[in-house]
Amino acid sequence: MVTSVSILGATGSIGASTLDLVRSGNFRVVALSANSDVQKLAELAREFDADVVAISKEQLYGELKSALAGTRTKVLAGPSGMAEAASAQSDILLSAIVGAAGLEPTMAGFAKGRKIALANKECLVTAGALFMREANAKGAIVLPVDSEHNAVFQAFACGRRDAVSNVTLTASGGPFRTMSRERLAHVTPEEAVRHPNWSMGAKISIDSATLMNKGLELIEAHYLFDLKPSQLSVLIHPQSVAHALVEFHDGSIVVQMAHPDMRIPIGFCLAWPERMEWNAPKLDLAKLGALHFEAPDYERFPALQLARNALLQGGAAPNVLNAANEVAVEAFRKRALSFPGIAALVEGVLEMAEKEGVLREAGTVNDALGVDHIARRFAATLLPQFAAKAS
Ligand code: NAD
Ligand code: MG
Repeated sequence: MVTSVSILGATGSIGASTLDLVRSGNFRVVALSANSDVQKLAELAREFDADVVAISKEQLYGELKSALAGTRTKVLAGPSGMAEAASAQSDILLSAIVGAAGLEPTMAGFAKGRKIALANKECLVTAGALFMREANAKGAIVLPVDSEHNAVFQAFACGRRDAVSNVTLTASGGPFRTMSRERLAHVTPEEAVRHPNWSMGAKISIDSATLMNKGLELIEAHYLFDLKPSQLSVLIHPQSVAHALVEFHDGSIVVQMAHPDMRIPIGFCLAWPERMEWNAPKLDLAKLGALHFEAPDYERFPALQLARNALLQGGAAPNVLNAANEVAVEAFRKRALSFPGIAALVEGVLEMAEKEGVLREAGTVNDALGVDHIARRFAATLLPQFAAKAS
């Protein structure tokens, strides 16, 4: 049987891994989207003979249309085009846009019985309660692509949900795991994107270096699996082989292990509830010899603590944390902020949001996007102050 797939964020790292599996399996591509890379999107649309493509930047419509002249592919652009592409009928919607920009298009793709393979964790951080409520109301099935959450999902099959006592997400610790606080103040964006185990987009690589990624993942797990903050923990595991540990009431811990390759959790989602047969890289544990685990250092990596606090605080705090982090990471990439400045700016924005009373839980997607917008404005306002502190 042919499985039809649509991919939001087809030109990114997760998009590329997904298309790699699509090439080797029994799949048909329905819709593909990208932010601004017209040439790459057109190339992919031709290769996979996509029914629909959407480019997020509306002004690029003409360019994309010409690049696809002579093909049968329908060309769309802008927010409504993204929503139309997302809702085009297919068995699976792979959501791999980076950032809160993924929220609306992903939600536009909810439909009864449709599998939403969710890589975009920012959807759940920005509007987790709303997102899951709406998915359930529409009958969409959310499957986690994020490797840790995918591991949790798999381990959950070993017992009843009410028998789960604790869920531990592992973190590699990133490229600066053993670096002193003094040296951390001077690391460059080039060093931060060089992840030791995973090959990923720039934003998530930097989030992995600050450990904000693990913080966002705690929030993601809370909403995705309806777990209490007290049931969620983080363990540093530099080899990135054991992706999550699920502890049951009887003291048993179930761990999912796999080679650190995103095609494994993506393939799991594409084939679910079956298992995909492909030439997956296999783990050689004898060669690895030992697995190492250690507690995270919240002092050198304060972003993890900020995210945990936002999770405990609830309401719009995770949304504000995420928006501020997106601005801070962008500023760091442009060398307008130091590496420690990322967490410092996020903390400043959270304090400002608290003072200004914008941390109430959003009732609608528009409310959530409104808070996201305000938090970005706060971050832009505070940025010069934090940039100056760093220099
Ligand atoms: P990436 O930067 O490589 O790709 C992002 C994709 O999103 C691109 O196709 C880009 O065109 C599109 N995009 C960017 N901004 C957009 C906007 N404003 N509107 C519409 N489209 C936009 O990112 P990635 O590493 O593939 O990550 C994608 C998502 O998956 C992120 O949320 C990330 O946290 C999550 N994720 C990634 C990995 C990984 O290994 N890369 C692992 C787990 C989770
Ligand atoms: Mg992850």
